[in-house]
Amino acid sequence: MRLTICPFTLELREPFVLAVGSRTETPAVLVELHRAGLVAYGEVALPPYLGWTQDAVCQALARVVWPHDLDPLNLDALLAAASAAVGDLPPALAALDIALHDLFGKVIGQPLYALWGLDVARIPPTSFTLSIGTPEALRHKAAQVTAYHILKLKLGGSHDRAAVAAVRDMTDRPLSVDANQGWHDRSAALDLIGWLAEQNVLLVEQPFSPNRVDDHAWLTERSPLPIIGDEAIRSVADVVAARGVYHGVNIKLAKCGGLRAAHAMLTVARALGLKTLLGCMTETSCAISAAVQLSPLADWVDLDGAALIANDPFEGGAQLIDGRLVPCSAPGVGVRPKAHRGS
Ligand code: MG
Repeated sequence: MRLTICPFTLELREPFVLAVGSRTETPAVLVELHRAGLVAYGEVALPPYLGWTQDAVCQALARVVWPHDLDPLNLDALLAAASAAVGDLPPALAALDIALHDLFGKVIGQPLYALWGLDVARIPPTSFTLSIGTPEALRHKAAQVTAYHILKLKLGGSHDRAAVAAVRDMTDRPLSVDANQGWHDRSAALDLIGWLAEQNVLLVEQPFSPNRVDDHAWLTERSPLPIIGDEAIRSVADVVAARGVYHGVNIKLAKCGGLRAAHAMLTVARALGLKTLLGCMTETSCAISAAVQLSPLADWVDLDGAALIANDPFEGGAQLIDGRLVPCSAPGVGVRPKAHRGS
């Protein structure tokens, strides 16, 4: 089996502004697995705040040695080989894991959701993210984005109420909000959440820095809205530790190492009575279409990443239908490269 590794720069349609900084592009790594006439695709995006570099991911991927008696259906053995090679670098594993699942689906001739026996009719609507901006910019964007039934607002600045009010001038669609660790005072956060609960807000992501466990637990005990851990949640162990600290967890393939780990985290979270949000980075339709395959297991879906980039090198895959991202019926992840890739 041949692995190709391609560093790629995702160009964002608009600057992405969060409480932790802003950017106009996101580094990513695309991989291909070639095996017996089949080509499988994987990807990971590497937003700088996570601290993982393109070079480190490419070097880790180059160390992979597949088993001699390679069987594309033996995902346990292949993922063990991938994991042993990349070590403690979840994004490298995520790219390989997506490609290995894509290959698995192509060998069997089934989309991944069918291999897991999931019901696509259960897929919740996906939210579309509006980054931090002026009230004017938010009003403009909220009016523009009509295909999505839920809008996600990036908060954590000093004008959070003004931002929500600006969007509310334009639409009564449900909102989710993400503080991206940008809040500092727990009483002020609780006051704000009380107000957000009256604004048809569905959930609140990562109010404080993840290390403020006691403050998150205090807020979760009192908040009228679900408090969802994101930056704090990267593994099954983090999901277990989230009980009593958050109402739910935001699970992303790039953070946790791919579909196998995300499936386990979703299953464990549900068993523990935690709410589940399936999220993404700004990424191509490859990683998005992979995550969509798991979305029947999530309470909420935030998989707008491919809609935020200008140079998606893939086509096919998940389609937005009546506000929900629905997997296509093609085997595996379901994407194919465009004839002429964007630069
Ligand atoms: Mg988040």
